[in-house]
Amino acid sequence: MTANLVSATFAERLEAVESRIAAACARSGRPRSSVLLLAVTKVFPPAVIEDAWNAGLRDFGENYVQEFESKAPSVAALPGARFHLIGHLQSNKSRRAAELFQVIQTVDTPKLARRLAESGIPLDIMIEVKLSHEDAKYGCPPAALPELIDSIRSLPNLALRGLMTMPPWSDDPEHSRPFFREARALAERHHLDGLSMGMSHDLETAIEEGATIVRIGTALFGSRKQV
Ligand SMILES: *Cc1c(COP(=O)(O)O)cnc(C)c1O
Repeated sequence: MTANLVSATFAERLEAVESRIAAACARSGRPRSSVLLLAVTKVFPPAVIEDAWNAGLRDFGENYVQEFESKAPSVAALPGARFHLIGHLQSNKSRRAAELFQVIQTVDTPKLARRLAESGIPLDIMIEVKLSHEDAKYGCPPAALPELIDSIRSLPNLALRGLMTMPPWSDDPEHSRPFFREARALAERHHLDGLSMGMSHDLETAIEEGATIVRIGTALFGSRKQV
């Protein structure tokens, strides 16, 4: 984080994030194309999504169905744009979520998977996995993964793409490493290719540990507190 982050333009922030991703890929012997930059636009208005789309970004993460519902009319038709739900989803909002998003990254129960499948809309699915920490409210515990994976794979309309995880918050990106490592081991054990992990402060660690999607908000758009 640089001191002038707040005054940096979006183009400058994007360039800085891109170079961090490129450096982490190079260090890990991975091609840049193996990591998707997911721009997390929660709290920001539709114009911010449009700016990011104009800069070439196509994948956007939002946390709340209701918030995105109000933004979607302005941005849903941007060519090539894909919207990922990365916040917790209650099953009573699953139909609306299926209509608004192309990717649901936070499936954590067979019941939610069933509800999404019942929408009849083809969806890319990731399972949010809850690793060993007590403050995590949501996510599928590793022991319940086999059952959830089986149920998603047996349902129509759902394409299981991988696992998503969010370690407990810490300033120190090294604190995230064991969680990222565990998520990767689980993905490998269950033959899943996609791994959504890493945010503004720990994207390098996540890429070193195998992330295929990094979810970046603050480093691209500045602090959400200013909005
Ligand atoms: C807000 C959020 C992010 C982005 O976090 P930053 O630290 O702003 O990059 C990533 N993932 C999830 C699940 C989030 O809720």
